[in-house]
Amino acid sequence: MKDKTKGIMGNSIETVRDTDSLFIPDNYRGSIAFNMESANGKRELAESVCPTKALLPFKENYSDLLLDYGKCIMCGYCAEITPKLIKINSKPASPVNTRASMIERLGPQIPSLASYEQTGNELRGKIQELFGRSLAIREVDAGSCNGCEVEITALNNPIYDIERFGIHFVSSPRHADLLLVTGPASKNMEVALKRTYDAMPGPKIVIAVGACACSGGIFGDTYSTTGGIGNVIPVDVYIPGCPPRPQTLLCGILLAIGRTLSHTK
Ligand code: SF4
Ligand code: SF4
Repeated sequence: MKDKTKGIMGNSIETVRDTDSLFIPDNYRGSIAFNMESANGKRELAESVCPTKALLPFKENYSDLLLDYGKCIMCGYCAEITPKLIKINSKPASPVNTRASMIERLGPQIPSLASYEQTGNELRGKIQELFGRSLAIREVDAGSCNGCEVEITALNNPIYDIERFGIHFVSSPRHADLLLVTGPASKNMEVALKRTYDAMPGPKIVIAVGACACSGGIFGDTYSTTGGIGNVIPVDVYIPGCPPRPQTLLCGILLAIGRTLSHTK
């Protein structure tokens, strides 16, 4: 027994001190870059293979392309068929405040997100300012494939350890300040989602996590889905990705808290 205890104690720190040193594989699909100079009539081809219709022509110049990050599931088909026009990048795309601002006219450069540690430390200060205590999150799976849940669960593991920034997950909406919602909001989850939102106390911050929650994603806007949680409850922040990484989730929470703070001042 003594030896076993010594073995456990001997492991010392069971986490990493610097999450920014964590390796993001080059083949991680975080965002998309266009090189329109290499379009050469390939625009229609790229549009035709997109399963979620995330690629759109730019109205003022039909040879240009727009990407709807709210619909993009990062499948990579467009880049496979038009490799000179479209490149999938491992840098994660940024969370935004409105559904409309997820539609971007992209260039070859992808802006970098702030690091996980930097975002978490900034978030801790803002949570103190807004709530004077910790931030309580209720997560609702409104019909997701569980990919987004895996990343949300990772926030609580010893590596990302979100509780050190004053954020914890709760099991009742009555104790929650913020709602994280995944999935397209299937029709079967519509009433449950509305009731969860109604049960929350103010200021009722809502974040749509992943392409499905933003637009219906791979589930689309069909007879069995609502086509995105924005059609069921008001949304403060949309997080692109399929699924978004913990770093992007934290940036989305920071954006939502900052917005709520500015509204309350
Ligand atoms: S990576 Fe995105 S834009 Fe490209 S085909 Fe897949 S869903 Fe469409
Ligand atoms: S966004 Fe992607 S990972 Fe998240 S629920 Fe939808 S299909 Fe799954």
